[in-house]
Amino acid sequence: MDRALLEEHLTARAEPDYRGTQVWQWAARGVAGYAEMTNLPAELRAELAGEVPFSTLEVEREEKARDGTVKTLFRTHDGHAVEAVLMRYRDGRRSLCLSSQSGCPLTCTFCATGQMRFGRNLTASEILDQALHFRRVEPVDHAVFMGMGEPMLNLDAVVEAARSLPDIGITHRRTTVSTVGWLPGLRRFVDEVEEPVRLALSLHAPTEELRSELMPVNDRYPLADVLEECLRYFELRRRKVFVEYVMLGGVNDRVEQARALADLLDPKVFKVNLIPYNPTGMYAGSSRKAIAAFKGVLDRARIPATVRLTRGRDIAAACGQLAARPEPVALGLPLDS
Ligand code: SF4
Repeated sequence: MDRALLEEHLTARAEPDYRGTQVWQWAARGVAGYAEMTNLPAELRAELAGEVPFSTLEVEREEKARDGTVKTLFRTHDGHAVEAVLMRYRDGRRSLCLSSQSGCPLTCTFCATGQMRFGRNLTASEILDQALHFRRVEPVDHAVFMGMGEPMLNLDAVVEAARSLPDIGITHRRTTVSTVGWLPGLRRFVDEVEEPVRLALSLHAPTEELRSELMPVNDRYPLADVLEECLRYFELRRRKVFVEYVMLGGVNDRVEQARALADLLDPKVFKVNLIPYNPTGMYAGSSRKAIAAFKGVLDRARIPATVRLTRGRDIAAACGQLAARPEPVALGLPLDS
């Protein structure tokens, strides 16, 4: 829901100040439309239904994986594609992977989103409408900004949306903003976001050379500088930084690369998520054996490390695989959050 447009309408009607909050509270609780907002005058409900679209996004397609993961393709009012994912876990967790941009201007080589045409930054309302869509399906409790786009390139909207997520049921501690290391945004995030929102760094390579090959952003903002900023986050906020490391067969998964990664990371500051990767053309995924050996090195170096569970394998709902393809595909899925 475009909250600025909503406020405009309420002000034009000289509605009391609390109306906007009332409407938002209903939406955040997962109602299906204005008609269900029973403490609003009926006439106002009818008018809003005609004047302020209940969502800024239209659902274009929804796919459901065998494990319950749901991937939704939305369209913005001006035709841009946006994908978001609901992941369902056996322990009851319901986690959302939200997009901050339509497409992405950073062309990480392993990422399907980076290969599609960049559309634009999403507004805070468009980000929240992804979450509200799934909230209308069931209660949700975790969110990661790991969908389409680099959140630090659209920080104001991301932070504005993240600040409203607790109303939907997702606390700040259960909200994670991920970055590939876009330093100007990361610096602002560290300085300005005082809420206990978590930070994740998509690292993916233990050396500057390999990282630049996989992620061109590294030429602009080298890993050493990015890690320094993560350290500053830890010192300021006393919260660990999650390191995302996608396992690409024969590229970044050798034992000596695990040692190099262990040398880079302070176990007090970082926690590593190893992410099995499914082949999408350019790279192969690492074998289970290679992942286990890699993790073994990190374990011995006492770097906290986990191998991420895979969700939505059959609908390409993974981080790095959101590409708003016109038809359902079955690439197999490496990641979840
Ligand atoms: S990994 Fe993230 S930053 Fe890189 S291209 Fe994909 S969406 Fe953009």
